Amino acid sequence: MSSKVYEALFQDIDRHMDEYMGELCDFLRIPGVSTYPDGRENMEKAAEWILEKLRTLGFEGGLRQTEGWPIVMAEHTYRPGAPRLLIYGHYGVQPEMPVEEWISPPFEPTIRDGAVYARGANDDKGQVYTYLKALESYRRVYGEIPLNILFVIEGEEEIGSKSLLRLMREQPELMQADIFLMSDSSMLSKEIPAITCGFRGIMAMELEIQTMARDLHSGLFGGIGLNAGEVLSNLLAKMKDENGRVTIPGFYDRVIPLTEREKAEMDKLPYNEAAVAKSLGMPALPGEAGYTAVEKKSCRPTLDINGMWCGFTGEGSKTVIPARAHAKLSSRLVPGQEPEKIFACFEKFIRENLPDGVRSSVSYGFGAMPVLVDMGDPNLERAAKAIREGFGREAAYIRSGGTIHIVSEVKNSLKIPSLLILGWGRPENGSHSPNECFYIDDFRSAVRSLCVLFRALARENE
Ligand SMILES: [Zn+2]
Repeated sequence: MSSKVYEALFQDIDRHMDEYMGELCDFLRIPGVSTYPDGRENMEKAAEWILEKLRTLGFEGGLRQTEGWPIVMAEHTYRPGAPRLLIYGHYGVQPEMPVEEWISPPFEPTIRDGAVYARGANDDKGQVYTYLKALESYRRVYGEIPLNILFVIEGEEEIGSKSLLRLMREQPELMQADIFLMSDSSMLSKEIPAITCGFRGIMAMELEIQTMARDLHSGLFGGIGLNAGEVLSNLLAKMKDENGRVTIPGFYDRVIPLTEREKAEMDKLPYNEAAVAKSLGMPALPGEAGYTAVEKKSCRPTLDINGMWCGFTGEGSKTVIPARAHAKLSSRLVPGQEPEKIFACFEKFIRENLPDGVRSSVSYGFGAMPVLVDMGDPNLERAAKAIREGFGREAAYIRSGGTIHIVSEVKNSLKIPSLLILGWGRPENGSHSPNECFYIDDFRSAVRSLCVLFRALARENE
């Protein structure tokens, strides 16, 4: 398939680019920040704005009220039996602070050096908007979109997606689909678009131990007191060996190893370990022996101490033997691992490795399942082809080391078999930072890719 086939389509997109960017600027001017409790007016304005645009594209729907911010749900029904797409994104943005570091005001979108600068330009208003404009160009060029499409655009992604996660768990039937599509991730670099094929899950927990009835004077009792700080550090130190491997029995039991193909894709990714180590102020990158840095940061499970404290930590000194010590721990999990089962391994390890008489209290914080996209899914190949047409470049298949709770839920509660996670923003676009931007060329390439993808998903032109 050559781009000749798409000439009319690509011309339409080019002809309307200024108009598309102008509309995106209107969207970006609405200062709906998810975390501001007094932001209802702006959040509703942003939700209604996107709903209105969907209506003009022939979608039917409304705002679903929640305990938090409303969820935009709008649907285009083509015909029963046609593939059903669930397109996800978010209209709520991060706070604009520190506002003095912005070159142009965060809610006055400004175009310079080929990019639009504003809070939300990349994350996620700009990326969401590529879907709407792709549908608009598609309709003008080809007529009706031969797919059933449901848009779910939420306002709480930046603050944990509580309302949407609950809706997915309680009423999964509302969002049934064959294919899940989202763009809220990033490209690998400004030259390489990416298809994200996996996310790590997470298990977070807290641990408190008590070794004695009370803190003791380190002179009167030094030598006979049982120091909780020492007991806790010994316990934590036992959790990993000198090769960076977690020693907790059962921790790696269900880890699904990388396939040959995944490993080959991963080895192709450019990654300069020495430069990264230097930029982070380390002589070399630490971690589990026997794995590359890309593997360690995206497909291997981890164990981190996020915080620990005991005794006296204020200014000055207090010569005390602490009776209590605390730690917050978390593990990023990989496909095969489950948060509750991993938590149970930790509980057992702690119970079996504390000295006699030491009391412990272990509590589960939160968890999310890891997600692995089925690499055999033919829609992945369709997406890669569409990106090749739209960007004129090959996409990289990557795995993210992070966790997106919504994707876990889509995979595990909605059980949607096909997951297409396509990042349109460059890593340097400054999501969550001052001077967030989105390149107009990337917007154009994304709109092109999506139109080609819609055709492919509807099995036209194949
Ligand atoms: Zn986002």
